[in-house]
Amino acid sequence: MLNERSINDVLFSCIVPVFNEEKNIAKFLEDLRSHLKKTTNQFEIIVVDDGSSDRSKKIISSCVNSPELILLSLSRNFGKEAALTAGLECCSGDVAVMIDADFQHPIALISDMILHWENGQDMVYGVRKNRNSETFFLRKIKTAFYKMLTYSQDIAIVPNAGDFRLLDRKVIDALNSMPEKYRFMKGLYSWVGFSSTPILYEVSQREAGKKMSFISLCKLAISGITSFSTLPLRLVSMVGIIMSLIGIIYGAYILTQTLLYGNSTPGWTTLVVFMCFSGGIQLVSLGIVGEYISGIFMEVKGRPNYLVSEKIVMNQSSISLVNKEFSKKIA
Ligand code: UDP
Ligand code: MG
Repeated sequence: MLNERSINDVLFSCIVPVFNEEKNIAKFLEDLRSHLKKTTNQFEIIVVDDGSSDRSKKIISSCVNSPELILLSLSRNFGKEAALTAGLECCSGDVAVMIDADFQHPIALISDMILHWENGQDMVYGVRKNRNSETFFLRKIKTAFYKMLTYSQDIAIVPNAGDFRLLDRKVIDALNSMPEKYRFMKGLYSWVGFSSTPILYEVSQREAGKKMSFISLCKLAISGITSFSTLPLRLVSMVGIIMSLIGIIYGAYILTQTLLYGNSTPGWTTLVVFMCFSGGIQLVSLGIVGEYISGIFMEVKGRPNYLVSEKIVMNQSSISLVNKEFSKKIA
């Protein structure tokens, strides 16, 4: 394909979600900035502080020598998906890259992503070569999760591909046009389509700070399943049908036994096991249905995905200001 677009002709945005990264953020922003200076003429770095309770926000605000920096401070911790959504809605670039602040995504790879974009790709997504930074147990669960998601829907979610990706303005606008509150970004990237290509990278260990907790990952997984797949609902119906069939067959068997051989000894054990089993299945089924209903509840309420407490644009004499336009948009 012909080289039709050049990164030097457009504004490049970098979106960095940050939650309690006081040990990483200063060095990370310095490294990112010096890499971008070598790579492109015009860029902006949007740091979304996702309600950090440590000194992250203070450290970011003190980067007054970075005129390209925009700090978007959320009013509390809304989670990484919301932080990325905030960054995408705030960025003005014609092309953007989302990158974690913990050095797990190699900054140097941004140049390779840009090359793919210049060659016509609208989305370039990083795929982890290794998952050594995760435990064996977590790796297995994640693999099973992506297999299940891919199996249960029409769109494929690429395993080992995360939020480290480059997006063209077309893709950003498509993502921003999606009104849903339950945002499972990996599903949304696949859903929007557009030309895309993977790029492999070695994931390094987190430099400092804590990883996302297992509970947060579970919540994300549930939101991923319930917002992109109805397979669990179908499974519940199937299990219900199978349980009813087992009940009918077992009932017929008992009836035949009683008719042929008279009253059999009362099967307490069978009865109790059967009751516990069917009771458990019913509760799990109700829970699954409940997850979908709570998803509808969240959507119907129509609350914003996040709230911005302030937006600091460093090149505006590093004055802290609440962006009126932005607040209006999300109100
Ligand atoms: N992060 C965030 N909000 C959160 C949790 C994490 O903005 O509630 C940021 C975090 O600061 C980092 C990125 O999202 O820049 C990835 O987080 P983490 O390293 O915990 O996730 P993992 O690498 O395990 O996917
Ligand atoms: Mg990480």
